[in-house]
Amino acid sequence: MDASRMVRNSGDAGPSGGDNNATAHRISTNARHIPADVKREVWERDGGQCTYVSDSGRRCEERGLLEFDHMDPVALGGEASIERIRLRCRAHNQLEAELVFGAEFMRYKREEARLRKSAHGTA
Ligand SMILES: [Zn+2]
Repeated sequence: MDASRMVRNSGDAGPSGGDNNATAHRISTNARHIPADVKREVWERDGGQCTYVSDSGRRCEERGLLEFDHMDPVALGGEASIERIRLRCRAHNQLEAELVFGAEFMRYKREEARLRKSAHGTA
């Protein structure tokens, strides 16, 4: 208990310094930060256009509201590298997320149903 209290929290001690907080903030957001030169490379490679390609092979023509999309979840250690980042318009960036979460959700539901079924023993 004492060991954890050895970390001094300047915010608690007094309103004098905000430097520690600023440093912590910078570290916590660092994983999502994409360096400016990486952004520029990705932008040029993708031609400043959404990279979403539909099932019929048609590429999205959106050139406004573009976002830099990480192919790997940053939380799992994905780094901001040119190969792993692509341009996506806002709509397709969100669509992809919905598809991923939707698939996970459905798989979870199926698994849950199967477990419940087998728990009854007579399948
Ligand atoms: Zn798009």
